Amino acid sequence: MVHMFNTLPFTVPPSVYVLGVRVDRLTRRQVVASLEHIIALARSSQDPLPCQQIITVNPEFVMAAQRNTLFRQCINQAALVMADGIGIVLAARYLRQPTPERVTGVDTLVDLAHLCASHSYRLYLLGAAPGIAEEAAQRLLNLAPGLMIAGTYAGSPAPAEEDEIIERIRTSQADVLCVAYGAPAQDLWIQRNLSRLPVAVAMGVGGSFDFLTGRQRRAPRWLQQLGLEWLYRLYREPWRWRRMLALPQFALQVVLKGHKLYDA
Ligand code: UDP
Repeated sequence: MVHMFNTLPFTVPPSVYVLGVRVDRLTRRQVVASLEHIIALARSSQDPLPCQQIITVNPEFVMAAQRNTLFRQCINQAALVMADGIGIVLAARYLRQPTPERVTGVDTLVDLAHLCASHSYRLYLLGAAPGIAEEAAQRLLNLAPGLMIAGTYAGSPAPAEEDEIIERIRTSQADVLCVAYGAPAQDLWIQRNLSRLPVAVAMGVGGSFDFLTGRQRRAPRWLQQLGLEWLYRLYREPWRWRRMLALPQFALQVVLKGHKLYDA
């Protein structure tokens, strides 16, 4: 298999493996350039090209991937894996293979909206509670005037709904699909359907639609810059404390095990 990085118009350092989970060492700007490259290739190809999966990884993903082999393979085989979460950035630095910066799902969604607007690519928003994807689409349209929203649909990640959802996406003629079913459900949903997804790229975006519509508030920029967005999230959503125990566990494992490599 020719890795997509070999065809990019810039060189990328080898990916870092954090506890066996791949993270690509790309800047936000390089991520946009890669997405542009993938979509342009798909648009100009005579035959339909396989959909490319994009994943943004945070420490909770890495810890979930220790127990869930399918999820780990899903991440390690994706076309692009971005470092979401300061924990990943710090771990990569500790492993002496630093990532240039954090690239979050919500920032990438906004970048994608701009990319789609400037190239007339069509964006489909799938997931979140009913009505939220529509509101998120409106918000993205305000941020990126001219954006073509191919469609929005809440649906659910239940396998029984997959055929109907794929048909909706097919008739929408979307180029880009963003799926907000939370991890790992959204990423496994994309991977399960990769061979028949009629889009150039599909990305799991977690709570991004909730952030865009203001249902969830993001940490102030100064807290983000201090690397404390996770603390703000704990303050806003204290019921997440159990899930967020993954953070200290992650830090401990990285220090104890360092590099741990898997085949896939
Ligand atoms: N969600 C959904 N269907 C489901 C489970 C989750 O639409 O069966 C949505 C939920 O409404 C939210 C998003 O998935 O918009 C997950 O958000 P969360 O903040 O949990 O994701 P994270 O960013 O932590 O992965």
